[in-house]
Amino acid sequence: MSSYIPVSGANMSENRKDAEFISEMLDDHTEWFKNSIPMIASENLISPLAREMLMSDLCDRYAEGLPGDRYYNGNIYVDKIEARVIEMAKELFRSNYADIRPISGTVANIGLLKALTQPGDTITAPALSDGAHISTAKFGAVGVRGLKSHTYPFDVDEMNLDIDGTRKLLLEIRPKLALFGRSVFLFPAPLKELKDTFDEIGCNVWFDGAHVLGLIASGRFQDPLREGAHVITGSTHKTLPGPQHGILIANPRDDKMARKLNSGIFPGVVSNHHLFATAALGVTIAEHKEFGEEYSDQIIRNAKALGQALYERGMKVFCEHKNFTESHTIVVDVQELGGGKEVAQLMEDSNMICNMNMLPWDDKPKSPSGIRLGTQEMTRIGMKESHMTEVAEFIKRVAIDKDNTTKIKDDVTRFKSDFQTMHYCFDEDFPAYKRHRLVPKY
Ligand SMILES: *Cc1c(COP(=O)(O)O)cnc(C)c1O
Repeated sequence: MSSYIPVSGANMSENRKDAEFISEMLDDHTEWFKNSIPMIASENLISPLAREMLMSDLCDRYAEGLPGDRYYNGNIYVDKIEARVIEMAKELFRSNYADIRPISGTVANIGLLKALTQPGDTITAPALSDGAHISTAKFGAVGVRGLKSHTYPFDVDEMNLDIDGTRKLLLEIRPKLALFGRSVFLFPAPLKELKDTFDEIGCNVWFDGAHVLGLIASGRFQDPLREGAHVITGSTHKTLPGPQHGILIANPRDDKMARKLNSGIFPGVVSNHHLFATAALGVTIAEHKEFGEEYSDQIIRNAKALGQALYERGMKVFCEHKNFTESHTIVVDVQELGGGKEVAQLMEDSNMICNMNMLPWDDKPKSPSGIRLGTQEMTRIGMKESHMTEVAEFIKRVAIDKDNTTKIKDDVTRFKSDFQTMHYCFDEDFPAYKRHRLVPKY
């Protein structure tokens, strides 16, 4: 007897119900986010024009390889788009090499490790509890490649690597590859300070810029390729407000290194590289060249303002003595207010979306002491410093006063109704916006 159940015919209405369910949940999700304050440091809003690229015919197509060197036909216009976006990316990051094919930041990281390391090699990296990303830990890409990893000592007061200790570790381990960059990234990595040490060892220096990519593209935060890094990897959807995708940017030492990086990504870790995302990335880069400096400055000003306003309301924001942050992110120790999990949940109940986060002394990822807040998406919808004070007041009512969350939620929804347009992007009258329109806008 077969247990096969036909998926069409008799069950058609059930199948339709499944599709309807998904579509309804999406409507509910969209409505909820419309009424909520977005504070997750790794998210952003893609512009209307870039969103059109995601929904275009490109989401149905394939291309492997590089423009002019493909394994499939049908890429006449894809080649033109991709070649242009590669040039735009090199210009934006002031680099002589860019690979726009990684389909996420993690994929870019795995491709880089394939290119620049062999199984059994030793690398150095920041520790997870000090804000590193899972893809650079032994549970992630570093483990996939079979590497040994040593972590840098950390200075909690400075929320940054301990420079002398890091120098000592580098000289002792003499890694083949030294990784910098984190997911809790308040202050620039000390590349400049360590450059002489990198030169002495002759190691490759890798900067994982996923979080701060938009800021460094605008010449803010730090300039890794000028400070000693050879390669930058990143996600294109955090402070760079683009599609969920990845990128690898480099000033390779020589042609051999460039060839290795190229084959590390393809055929290494991608085949088709999501052409809709590369087109959306191109639009994002164009918009970032136009508006990125203004946008990045406001993101950083807002982060400092939010830190200050929370601090004044009695919350334990990290690094008051350093003006809280140089990036889009601030970190708050909420252990005495119930812990990161509880505070993030109460905030969600009040339509404020953030994430709980481990602090340097934590060892339980599921019950950490902190929350991490990012200002890049709030800035994108037009919020300025004065609005950060209002947001801080909402957070205080949740975390300290323990006010009724339904009441706060109503107030947040009312506050958010003034922020329903996107800034720092081309307007919807842009010709290509209509040309690419294939689905009706809700
Ligand atoms: C977000 C992040 C990544 C990659 O994330 P994806 O979700 O794969 O794009 C890599 N490194 C760091 C430091 C990150 O914060």
